[in-house]
Amino acid sequence: MRARHRLLPALLTATLLLGGCSGDASAPDRPLIAVSTNILGDVVREVIGAQADVLVLMPPGSDPHSFEISAQEAARLRGADLLVSNGLGLEEGVQHHLDAAAADGVPRFVAGDHVETVAYTDDEMSGPDPHLWTDPRRMLQVLDALEPALAALDAVDGPALHASAETYRQELRDLDAHLAELFATIPASRRALVTNHNVFGYLAQRYDFTVVGTVLPGGTTLAAPSASDFDDLIQDMATASVDVVFADVAQPERLMRVLADEADVQVEVVPLFTESLSAATGTGEDSGAATYLEMMRSNADRITAALAS
Ligand SMILES: [Zn+2]
Repeated sequence: MRARHRLLPALLTATLLLGGCSGDASAPDRPLIAVSTNILGDVVREVIGAQADVLVLMPPGSDPHSFEISAQEAARLRGADLLVSNGLGLEEGVQHHLDAAAADGVPRFVAGDHVETVAYTDDEMSGPDPHLWTDPRRMLQVLDALEPALAALDAVDGPALHASAETYRQELRDLDAHLAELFATIPASRRALVTNHNVFGYLAQRYDFTVVGTVLPGGTTLAAPSASDFDDLIQDMATASVDVVFADVAQPERLMRVLADEADVQVEVVPLFTESLSAATGTGEDSGAATYLEMMRSNADRITAALAS
C-alpha cells in the first residue's frame, strides 16, 4: 500500500509530461493543429490566434512538392488534434506521413476538397492544379470550410474564432480587390505569364492572364523538361511576344537563365515567392513574403512592374 501511494505522484507527473509533448507545455489544454504548408500555416495562425498550438511542417523558402519532415515531427503529427493540408497532390514528400496520421484517427482538413479546382494540362500530363492559394477567392472558400473545423476543436472559443475569421475574410477581400486594381493597369496584350513551374492557373483564371507556358512540365516541380519542351516554350514565347519570365526564388534559376539565353530576344527573369513564405518580412533578397497577404501583394507588385510598362 505504501509503495502504491508513492507511485501515484510519479504517475501523475509522467502523465503531465506526456501531455506536454503534444503542445506547448505551458498550455496543456490548447489543441495542437499540424499544418503541412507554411502558406496554410499562416492562415490557420491568423484565424485561431492563441487558442491552439500550430505546428507548421514546411520550413520557409522550401518547395512544397518535395520538402520532408523529421521522425520527431512525424511523431508529433500523429498526436495532433487536427491535420490541415493543401491536398490535390501538392505535398508529395510528406503525403505518406499525413496519411499515417489520418489512419491513426487524427481529423483531417484538406483545403483542396473545398474549392472549385482548375486543371493543368500539357502534352504528357493532366490533373487538378494544387496551387489554389494564387486566387484569394479560393482562399475565402478554404476559410469558410476551415472555420467550422477549427470551431470543432476542444477548448476553442467559438465567438472569438468567428471574430478573427471575419477579420481575415475582410483581409482576403481587400487583397482580391487590390490585385484586380493593380492587374487592370497591365494592357490585355501583356497579360501573359511564363513561369518556371505551373503555379498561376488560379491567378490567371481570376485576373484574366494567359499562361503561355512553363519551363517544368506538369503540376509538380519534380519533373524535368525535354529539349523539345524547351524549344516549344521558346516558340510560344516568341509567338506571344513574351519577354519576361517569372521564377520562384526557392527553385534553381539555372533553367530560367538557359531559357533567357536561348530566346532570340532579351528576356528578363523576375523572382517571385510563389509556393512558400519567406523567413523575413521586408525587401531583402530572401524577404517580402513572411505572410500569405504579404506574399500575394509583393508578387502582384513585381508582376505589374514587369508587365505594365
Ligand atoms: Zn508547385
